[in-house]
Amino acid sequence: MIIECFHCESKVDGIVKGEVDGHDDEYPFLFKTILVECPVCHSALVGMTEKIQTGPGHYE
Ligand SMILES: [Zn+2]
Repeated sequence: MIIECFHCESKVDGIVKGEVDGHDDEYPFLFKTILVECPVCHSALVGMTEKIQTGPGHYE
């Protein structure tokens, strides 16, 4: 997934290493927490996304 790497200070096509579905009674939308590895510097990045599918395999 495309994520901004704070280390490289650029958007990279991160390698998804895992994802966890989030649930929050006070937050009405489904969201996921995603663990991503930067393909450039290999930093671990954590992204959170609302579960809105905008295309095959794409979430924004
Ligand atoms: Zn990076």
